Amino acid sequence: MTLKVFNNLTKRKEEFVPVEKGKVNMYVCGPTVYDYIHIGNARSFVAFDVIRRYLEYKGYKVTYVSNLTDVDDKTIRRAKERRISIQQLGEKYSDAYFDDLTKLGMKKPDINPRATQHIEEIIDLIQILIDKKYAYVVDGNVYYDISKFEDYGKLSGNKAEALEAGARIEVDPRKRNPADFALWKRQKSEEPAWNSPWGKGRPGWHIECSVMSMKYLGETLDIHAGGKDLIFPHHENEITQSEAATGKPFAKYWLHNEWLTVNGEKMSKSLGNFITAHEAIEKYGSQVVRLFLVSVHYRSHIDFNDRSLKQAKRNLEKLFNAMEMFEALREEHKSAGGKELFKQVEKIRQKFEEAMDDDFNTSLAVSALFSLTRKINLYVKDHGEIETEVKKKIRGIVKRLVEDVFGIKMERRKPETDKLVENLMKLIIEIRRQLRERGDWETADDIRAKLKALELVLEDTPKGTEWKIESEP
Ligand SMILES: [Zn+2]
Repeated sequence: MTLKVFNNLTKRKEEFVPVEKGKVNMYVCGPTVYDYIHIGNARSFVAFDVIRRYLEYKGYKVTYVSNLTDVDDKTIRRAKERRISIQQLGEKYSDAYFDDLTKLGMKKPDINPRATQHIEEIIDLIQILIDKKYAYVVDGNVYYDISKFEDYGKLSGNKAEALEAGARIEVDPRKRNPADFALWKRQKSEEPAWNSPWGKGRPGWHIECSVMSMKYLGETLDIHAGGKDLIFPHHENEITQSEAATGKPFAKYWLHNEWLTVNGEKMSKSLGNFITAHEAIEKYGSQVVRLFLVSVHYRSHIDFNDRSLKQAKRNLEKLFNAMEMFEALREEHKSAGGKELFKQVEKIRQKFEEAMDDDFNTSLAVSALFSLTRKINLYVKDHGEIETEVKKKIRGIVKRLVEDVFGIKMERRKPETDKLVENLMKLIIEIRRQLRERGDWETADDIRAKLKALELVLEDTPKGTEWKIESEP
């Protein structure tokens, strides 16, 4: 079956043909390490992780590179506020990022290059652009001249002329065109800076990604991906400067994921609906968050809300229940049934693949998966046994689809409690007991309700109060 992907460069679904047969070089714009990643970032990283996994499922050898932006205006500002170096800041949040990726079931990118470790290569590429007259130096800054590149705007549709006509804020009058962007920024007081032929300074954001992607993946990548918000100016500028330098197409396929909203609104710190990936995982569990994220096609808008997450939780439970009952079937070497079920499972696997081959339609693939659990449930209802060989094959298929492609571990999350939690719960129960003794039923009930919201259930028994974690997949 042929794989089709929606290429945002041509705005069409195209047959996927990598530069080199059997291999895929893929670059995904990574986070700026100045804060925890939010659930919108997680959506993007999970979407492209599933795409990578599916390419591997199809037999491609994928090299997956995702950068860390560890020097830009945001990192510099945040480090200054906290009176630490950008290195310390970057260390803290890149650790947190990798931790979140692991919890979210992401395969680790093969390479995670950091901008600050590629300054030399960045300077080299800027020099090439200056030599080729695409870039010019103004007082320690280097700008890219967008009017020199004929195809400017081919990804975003923002043409150079239109950008010039539009009102721009704070245009440096020494720029040749108002929309020319900085490849190298001259050092402002006390900012982190590196030596360069144009004086002390630091790289612009766009050039980092061009340099790091081409260094590890070659001058023409198969897939360049990121959130929709990166199309302009980031990806447009990456194309411009890379193609000007090499004279070759920079990436064959451009993939962008749609927005994520929270309770129907755009996530923002000012609205108070800002959710980090870490918080979402703590609240719902990583498998539930992951299933929720893959339930929607990456090019469709997704809304993060309690109802949808609870639905994902119920769905995950259904899947686990079906597989547990399936595992409990008695095994018989001969004559036992299951062959008909196997045929049905095979058909559903084909449907799953058809959906994924159509621009990675995970939404339809998830539906296929749940029709599979229904078939298993029907079988289990009427049979107590299954042929050993058939059982093994079906188990193998489910594992490949759920674990290998979707990245969801087929294990129930065990309630993790440690001594600290045990002791804290004892303390809370004791305080609540004293409140009840004093007749403060209202506060005691409030404590119980608030614990319930945290999925901690209190049960008052004749022997005293006991607690448990609400049943979870
Ligand atoms: Zn980037």
